[in-house]
Amino acid sequence: MSLDPDIIRKHLEKVRFDIIRHATEYGRDPAQISLLAVSKTKPASMISAAFDAGQAAFGENYLQDSLPKIHELAGKGIEWHFIGAIQSNKTRDIAADFDWVQTVDREKIARRLDEHRTEDLPPLSVCLQVNIDAEEQKSGLLPEDVPALAAIVAECPRLHMRGLMAIPRESADFEQQRASFRRLRKCFEALQADYPDIDTLSMGMSSDMRAAIAEGSTMLRIGTAIFGARD
Ligand SMILES: *Cc1c(COP(=O)(O)O)cnc(C)c1O
Repeated sequence: MSLDPDIIRKHLEKVRFDIIRHATEYGRDPAQISLLAVSKTKPASMISAAFDAGQAAFGENYLQDSLPKIHELAGKGIEWHFIGAIQSNKTRDIAADFDWVQTVDREKIARRLDEHRTEDLPPLSVCLQVNIDAEEQKSGLLPEDVPALAAIVAECPRLHMRGLMAIPRESADFEQQRASFRRLRKCFEALQADYPDIDTLSMGMSSDMRAAIAEGSTMLRIGTAIFGARD
């Protein structure tokens, strides 16, 4: 379903207002919390509407679905983040068309992205994805495996390690949401001791953004609250 540009603008204003409200509640500077608009499955026209309402960074999960949109909207200056599962035969396209990849969770993918990121582009910004609740079917590294992969990524000349990302176990309970995010923040702080330049703690979606802000998120990934429910 496609939403009217005015509705998208209103949704964005509401999300921005909520970020300021929750940041204030937890004594944080809202300027330290960036917003990634998750546009997976949504048409280019809706991305355009959000862009015209001042939103510059967009996240996509499915390569096939995103490439036509990226090509259609080329030249606007949109910052594209890949936030889906990565198959190793897709790393060439991902490295060519995205500015960030937030879902790096194994050496093979890191090395292939590094190899395919061409010299005419700036290094690809990368977050390591952490399986913070150690869920069976979920992608991501276990927290104890983060330092080894970080050491590899830090040595890749065409990758720029920015930080950590996680999708915690779904829970409607605020304290449980906070507990997962707190574990990711501890993991981030430990990594920051070795890599002081990392700056991104990507956590928080439409249904748990308040808990994520409370625990130090620097990047919220918001889809539904901006673009409406997905089919
Ligand atoms: C879909 C998705 C989001 C956005 O989720 P909403 O609940 O729609 O805000 C954020 N991060 C990732 C990795 C996603 O796949």
